[in-house]
Amino acid sequence: MSTTAFHIAARDGRARTGTLTLPRGEIRTPAFMPVGTAATVKAMLPGSVRATGADILLGNTYHLMLRPGAERMARLGGLHRFMNWDRPILTDSGGFQVMSLADLRKLTEEGVTFKSHVDGSTHHLSPERSMEIQRLLGSDIVMAFDECPALPATEEAVAASMRLSMRWAARSREAFGDRPGHMLFGIVQGGVTRELREESAAALRGIGFDGYAIGGLAVGEGQEAMFGVLDYTPGALPDDRPRYLMGVGKPDDIVGAVQRGVDMFDCVLPSRSGRTGQALTRRGQVNLRNARHAEDPRPLDPDCTCPTCTGYSRAYLHHVVKAGEIIASMLLTWHNLHYYQELMAGLRAAIAAGRLTEFAAAFDAERLAGDLPPV
Ligand SMILES: [Zn+2]
Repeated sequence: MSTTAFHIAARDGRARTGTLTLPRGEIRTPAFMPVGTAATVKAMLPGSVRATGADILLGNTYHLMLRPGAERMARLGGLHRFMNWDRPILTDSGGFQVMSLADLRKLTEEGVTFKSHVDGSTHHLSPERSMEIQRLLGSDIVMAFDECPALPATEEAVAASMRLSMRWAARSREAFGDRPGHMLFGIVQGGVTRELREESAAALRGIGFDGYAIGGLAVGEGQEAMFGVLDYTPGALPDDRPRYLMGVGKPDDIVGAVQRGVDMFDCVLPSRSGRTGQALTRRGQVNLRNARHAEDPRPLDPDCTCPTCTGYSRAYLHHVVKAGEIIASMLLTWHNLHYYQELMAGLRAAIAAGRLTEFAAAFDAERLAGDLPPV
């Protein structure tokens, strides 16, 4: 008997809402996963992340294998215990970050050898090692190991990279084995070329995964091209399995992707923006560094129920951002994550009510109206 389940409770157009059930807890979909790169969602306590409404976090294999190390993490009881988060965790495979962060990479059919960006030490990642590391971390949702071509790339290079990733996907499936209570997701690659995306989706369906991710987007191709890929890729994946759009995105990216049938998201944007004085609100992005907020006694968003908006003025947020106080990162990250989770809750409720089109129109109208006029 399986200890994991994906249940679709309602549909609206291509969008779906439901639950992904794992032994460590239930994930309401469409879901947003805050990014806890180095075993912490920066500037947030785990209980605070949960209070924003997050059901699951993302951890980064590349960072954790380098520091503190997967074997050490396992000796300390695994990632959940280490970072004091007892709900589900999804880990990426390390593939994307090896390509984007590591020095002196050597890529072969077998895997990737690279030097750590932390201390220059030499490491190796392969489908088998990535599966082992994610098992040592104790990840609930494990991602297949894939390769991401450096952009810009020719279609030939994208095709060759995708086919290598599909061979690695089969090796990941084999190495993952049978682990009740844990899920393995395959990753569709193929750039912005429909034939390559469909070839990749077919290869993954042939191998068989517990869920399917769409990778290689939000890497500079622009929203129109991304939505173009999302117009056909989700439909090439099994309907009864969760679909995860990796590394996306801005609030309007998420709304558009949900309308195209995506169930799960992760992005550093809400937490990273929170550390640079940027707030993401229903009225769009607000830069708290701007002098217009210096004497503004109003909350960031009068309709937001987060601790930042119920307890602090724009003037205070402006002050602590300008002064470089740690609480600025804490307050803005909390608000941003709360906003993202409210957005996901709104999307879920709209799909359940068959009102997603109206929800998306209201979402666009509020953003178009822009921030509150100055006091
Ligand atoms: Zn707020």
